[in-house]
This record gives sequence, C-alpha cells and structure tokens, in this order.
Amino acid sequence: MVGVLRGVVPASVVNLTVHGIGPTVRQLDPDEDSAWVEIAQFEQVLDAAAGRPDVRITFDDGNASDLEIALPRLLKRGLVAEFFVLAGELGQPGRLDHDGVRELRKSGMAIGSHGWAHRDWRRLDARQATEEIVEANQVLTEIVGEPVSRVAIPFGSYDRHVLRRLRQAKVTRAYTSDGGRAQRESWLQARNSLRRDLDAEWIGQVLDGKPSLPLRARRVVAGTVKRIRG
Ligand SMILES: [Zn+2]
Repeated sequence: MVGVLRGVVPASVVNLTVHGIGPTVRQLDPDEDSAWVEIAQFEQVLDAAAGRPDVRITFDDGNASDLEIALPRLLKRGLVAEFFVLAGELGQPGRLDHDGVRELRKSGMAIGSHGWAHRDWRRLDARQATEEIVEANQVLTEIVGEPVSRVAIPFGSYDRHVLRRLRQAKVTRAYTSDGGRAQRESWLQARNSLRRDLDAEWIGQVLDGKPSLPLRARRVVAGTVKRIRG
C-alpha cells in the first residue's frame, strides 16, 4: 500500500482501464477478448479501489456492459468513473446508445471520447483525423449537453504527431495505456488495463505501484510498439 493519508489528496494516481465485463452479444476481436473480464473480477477491482483517492477508474469502447454491469456496481460503492465512448459506434449491437451515455452522465459519471471508429490514431489521413479527434468530441458534446474535451487514445497508440493534433483540438486530458502511476493533474495520463487473467496479485501490484517482472516486460514492449488495447 502506498502511503495514502486520509483526507490528503495524493499527488500521484493509478488509472485503471476497463473494456468489457461479463456476457456480450458482440463478436470480440482477439485483443478485446484478452481484455474482457468476468463480473467477479470487476467487483474485486472495485472493492480494492473503494476508499482509495489515488485510484481512478476509466472505461473504453462504449460497451453495453458500462451501463448494465458497471454502473450499478460503481454506484453501490460510491465510486465515480470516466467513460470513453466511441462516437461512431453508439447504438450498435453490444454498445451503448445515446440514452445510455446520458444515463451514465445523469448518474454522476464523466463522459469522454475514444474517437469515432477505433482506428489507430498514428495512421489517420486528414479526413479521418477530423472525424476521430474533432467531430467525435462535438457529437458527444451534443449528446451530453456539455463540453466533452477529454480523450482516451485507441490502442494507446500515439506519437508526437498525435499529441500535437490533440493539443490543437483543445483536448484537455489524454489517457494512454502506458501503465504505471500518473501525476494527478498532468495532461497525459498513463493507465493500466484490466486483463482477462487479472487476479488479486495483479490488483495488489498495480494499485501499490510495484509491478512484477512480467508487467515490467510488457511495459517495455508497450513503450516500443505503443499498441496495447486501449
Ligand atoms: Zn479501445
């Protein structure tokens, strides 16, 4: 346990990323499947995060499980999370629809953008970049009725050109999938993705900031390839 004193806002945080939970009607990509968790695993993470002001929970991909499975369990524990949805996938089978996004917001959750169609942001032409980084935020802003200016980068795939586009688009915070802890207020926020094989040991390692060797190795790979499910 990192020394977190009650009532003191810690300078660094652990950001967690949830993709999907429990059953789904959608055919999952292999990398999605490896990031999909059971309800019991998800609840284990929430119970570990409850009462920890240095743990933040985010959701990517706008899966229907955000609303159906995650929301009631967050509310039960008094937890607030940030949901990064795919503006171009809303209403598709197994995804949130417009009302679902509004319901999350009305329940006190934050809404951010995961882009339009889950493309790799390092490989966009100009038209796609506008759709992914500008129009997605505009559509989500209209749906929730307030500015949506935070993003989670698909696959955690970015380089300096991506970051420049995000700055130009007035993105106020960008979440990656780089792993480890992050400074609470920094613009770029590293996150740690829940995996299908997560267990109590993983939770302890991630929340306490002491990665095991395999996790360190994965992080080196992520730093090189920057293509971890995000
Ligand atoms: Zn994603």
